[in-house]
Amino acid sequence: MKREGQIKVDSENLFPIIKKWLYSDKDIFIREITANACDAIKKYKSLCLMGEIQDDAMTPRIDIVLDKEAKTITVSDNGIGMTEEEVEKYIAQIAFSGAQEFLEKYKDQTDAETGIIGHFGLGFYSAYMVSENVEIETLSYQKDAAPVHWESNGSHTYEISEGSKTERGTAITMHISEDGSEFLNEFKLKEILRKYCHYMPYEIYFRCVKEETEEKKPETQEEKPLNNTTPLWLKAPKDCTTEEYEDFYRETFTDMNLPLFWIHLNVDYPFNLKGILYFPKQTDKLQVMPGEIKLFANQVYIADNIKEVVPEFLMLLKGVIDCPDLPLNVSRSFLQNDGEVAKISKHITKKVADKLTSVFKNERKSYESYWDDISPFIKFGCIKDEKFYERVKDILLFKNLEGEYKTFAELPKQDNKVYYVSSTDVQGQYIKIFKENGLDAVILEHNIDAHFVTFLEYMESGTKFVRIDSEIGDALKSEAAEDSKETDEAVVQMFRDALGMEKLQIKTENLKTANIPAILTINEYERRMNDISKIYGNMFGEAGAASETLIVNTANSVVKKLADFEVDKRNLLCRHIFDLALMSQRKLNADETEGFMTRSVAVMELL
Ligand code: ADP
Repeated sequence: MKREGQIKVDSENLFPIIKKWLYSDKDIFIREITANACDAIKKYKSLCLMGEIQDDAMTPRIDIVLDKEAKTITVSDNGIGMTEEEVEKYIAQIAFSGAQEFLEKYKDQTDAETGIIGHFGLGFYSAYMVSENVEIETLSYQKDAAPVHWESNGSHTYEISEGSKTERGTAITMHISEDGSEFLNEFKLKEILRKYCHYMPYEIYFRCVKEETEEKKPETQEEKPLNNTTPLWLKAPKDCTTEEYEDFYRETFTDMNLPLFWIHLNVDYPFNLKGILYFPKQTDKLQVMPGEIKLFANQVYIADNIKEVVPEFLMLLKGVIDCPDLPLNVSRSFLQNDGEVAKISKHITKKVADKLTSVFKNERKSYESYWDDISPFIKFGCIKDEKFYERVKDILLFKNLEGEYKTFAELPKQDNKVYYVSSTDVQGQYIKIFKENGLDAVILEHNIDAHFVTFLEYMESGTKFVRIDSEIGDALKSEAAEDSKETDEAVVQMFRDALGMEKLQIKTENLKTANIPAILTINEYERRMNDISKIYGNMFGEAGAASETLIVNTANSVVKKLADFEVDKRNLLCRHIFDLALMSQRKLNADETEGFMTRSVAVMELL
């Protein structure tokens, strides 16, 4: 007997409204419908476990069939099924009123705020984002249950009648609308199945009914499920091998490089959380590449990079997190204010710090070998989260001029100063002077280091980071002869006359390294301000204003001889000495290069 029923919602037709809301995320329908199939199987299995049903031969199975000609996608399961009463209750009343509730809740939000995670809870109704009509064929597990057929076009009416299903379970057939036609493409459908269903807990088989051939016979191929029902994160960490971790990484992320190492999260208390976080190999030496953290709820993919759950800096890692306890059917603004969610985020941070500490303590050599790759994550993490800094500050490493890795405590400091190099290429001259005089510096070449040194000075007050070209430390100088004051002044004057640069400060020093005629230093703090204003515009004053000092080395033989030359030649030599100092400080610009070449030729003519 065929009956008509009224869907219990006030709105005449929810479909167009919800469709608008969910427009950007249409593909989640496949997740919702397939996740329902998993739930139905799970319910059946738990009845078996509880002894309510005797069915040892139960093999869970979900079939997804694409029929391009009929324009349908059918998802069928051998789960618990539904009686007529249940269809009315769960589908007509609950599923549709769930959609109604959703609308009520979010109708006041602007488009920008529609970041509702996965739009969960809309479940069954999401099929209408891509369908003009949905049919259900279902047979309940209950004894003597009759098969049911239900059908609705998403408006407020549906039709219910006796169905034809002979085996337990449910088949949902979606008659795909114009709007959803892209999903009738086999590759597109497979792509979204891979995205959302790849780790679902029961085997899913995909089939495409062939167009216009052999009376719609299924393809005869060896059957293979499209999903992996036992993802590695569910396995106990002690039972996982390196190969398995690497294979899982390759399967989940498209990355040609192997990960450096990983952290397997396995928490039962006070909340449930499982997952694997990988530290990827960095391919760019200066920039931090964005990572990818996939969030799952009971093996159902939810979304990538949910910053409310995963601390922001860990977004640089690649990984999976399965958190069944999360209230994922709610908006992000709820997650932001939820204490449980904050706890999860903190816990993940702690686990990462613990793992790093244990690698540092137990395998310092391999920790050092990873350091260049992992340090950007760690430094970024420190800057973003002081708690994380507190946990890892003793295992932060600094590479010195010899290529050795030292902790902050092990660092050579002179008067609480740590000298650093921001580019081994450009600052080679200064490195040479340092090495010749038995001094050490640390190499901080990554883009993040500019922020990191400022952060460290703030946290470790008393310590100053000074770039190797910003001053000449006492250790580099010899005692100046008592009577040299007058000659020193004369040397300064010679350079002043030759260069004619008012802003440039000029000084003499008697350096231990004699073969360098002069060196430029640039004030550390002014330079930092300058670097910042280059990035953020001239908010903090004119760029290029950092004061530079030319230090003329009175120990150098050319400098000693300057006074013997006639004025033109002396000026030429002074300019040339300045060029050399400038070149060892930074790259010359086009004009400077041009001037340097012309003067070089003139210097050669003197020979
Ligand atoms: P949710 O899954 O969040 O409860 P849905 O709208 O997806 O909401 O589904 C509503 C209800 O319909 C489910 O709770 C379930 O009782 C029933 N249902 C949906 N799909 C199936 C299925 N494949 N087999 C059995 N019952 C189902």
